[in-house]
Amino acid sequence: MTEHSSPIAQSAAQTITPDADILILGAGPAGLICALTAARRAKAAKLRREILLVDQDRTPARKLKASGGGRSNCTNLNAAPAHYLSKNPRFTAQALKRYTPAQFLALLQELGLSASEEDQGKMFCDQGAQALAEALEKACRKAGCRFLCGRPVTGLIPPAGHEGAEPGGLYQVETEHGPLYAPRVVLALGSPAWPALGGTDIVARLAGNLGLTHVPARPALTPLVLSGAEAALCRELTGLSINATLSLGPDSACGGASFTDGLLFTHQGLSGPAALRLSSYWRRGEEITINLAPGVDMAALLRQSGRGKALARTILSEFMPRRLAEARLKALPQGMAANVPDKRLAELSRAEMDALTQVVCHWRVTPKATAGMARAEAASGGLDTDAFSAKTMQCKALPGLFAVGEALDVAGDLGGFNLHWAWASGFAAGQAL
Ligand SMILES: Cc1cc2nc3c(=O)[nH]c(=O)nc-3n(C[C@H](O)[C@H](O)[C@H](O)COP(=O)(O)OP(=O)(O)OC[C@H]3O[C@@H](n4cnc5c(N)ncnc54)[C@H](O)[C@@H]3O)c2cc1C
Repeated sequence: MTEHSSPIAQSAAQTITPDADILILGAGPAGLICALTAARRAKAAKLRREILLVDQDRTPARKLKASGGGRSNCTNLNAAPAHYLSKNPRFTAQALKRYTPAQFLALLQELGLSASEEDQGKMFCDQGAQALAEALEKACRKAGCRFLCGRPVTGLIPPAGHEGAEPGGLYQVETEHGPLYAPRVVLALGSPAWPALGGTDIVARLAGNLGLTHVPARPALTPLVLSGAEAALCRELTGLSINATLSLGPDSACGGASFTDGLLFTHQGLSGPAALRLSSYWRRGEEITINLAPGVDMAALLRQSGRGKALARTILSEFMPRRLAEARLKALPQGMAANVPDKRLAELSRAEMDALTQVVCHWRVTPKATAGMARAEAASGGLDTDAFSAKTMQCKALPGLFAVGEALDVAGDLGGFNLHWAWASGFAAGQAL
């Protein structure tokens, strides 16, 4: 922990009137639910609590409003620590247990909204992302919270002599339009992912000032960019989607990862859930294996008796779009590409069958890069969770400082897990404020 001895903060504690009891920096989903929870708790306890949400944007929660392509995949019925990436894989457990998808769905109902389940426990808001964000903001205002929008935060100075000190001193929040003061501050400032929707690296910069460790942010849930012939192929297939398995081998930095999900070909390379999910684990230079026929035993299929008269290209087109089948047939080794597609199964040699299996089930590509933060739905990394209580999200060394949502080193899998973490961590802090 860095020693701070800011004369400004010292005098602030003595002479300056706080702007609020609780300053919530960032009015995204984590900040909104934190504010709502804290305001309702205070009301129930008949306590007067001034809660002020501060955001750089004129309208809060832009990522939430864009979530799920405007439909908001707002939670997942299977929310559990296994669906989150963090240096400390158990950190999410308590908060997820104390704020379940059922609790969030009950809140939706109370706000006059509803959600419907799609595949794999994914819950989408029936009224859409915009309605969800607006309902939460309205609920916060109704509970007495105030908003200060268009106010970028630039710095944070803890109360002087904060180490081991009792809570009570004032935090000084630097903003582009002057400082704000409060005894309790919540960092709900998100991650650098998708800057066009408000992602910034402010949390990493604040961490430096506060002496907190920040796990370097990396783009997660972002498309994979291919180059050369692979990129040309994807361009040809742009818009085509298929169920596929994308895998990283045991030699990869993550020790192996595999996702069977939708794969979408784009003009840049690979997108869709399977590619986005694998991107969170992929490191530059690593090879990805694509199986375009998950669950199909290709070797058995090619050898099946009774289909001996079928052409190789016909068989492939039975379980993938014809355009894709033709493209993969072109990838057969020289000498095979010209004649194997029109051979009958009964005429295929063992080597030809193996080659067909290879181009369909073991297509190997090495992406040039990911699409980076610009198109990342989340970022891994963030404030090191070791410094925070897993129950309250309060900083162990800085009483009165809390962090929630993507500001912490927690990144969820695709499917509503990131928003659920925003709700669960925001609720945990809101209960403790
Ligand atoms: C396109 C897209 C679609 C997504 N779809 C889904 C989905 O369907 N389901 C799902 O679970 N997750 C989805 N996510 C991820 C999810 O939106 C995020 O994980 C979630 O919004 C994180 O919540 P948060 O409150 O921690 O941060 P954010 O939502 O990023 O909120 C942080 C707030 O802080 C503000 N802020 C940032 N810097 C400053 C500053 N310097 N000063 C003042 N204010 C600042 C921002 O303006 C923002 O309002 C999606 C993300 C994107 C980009």
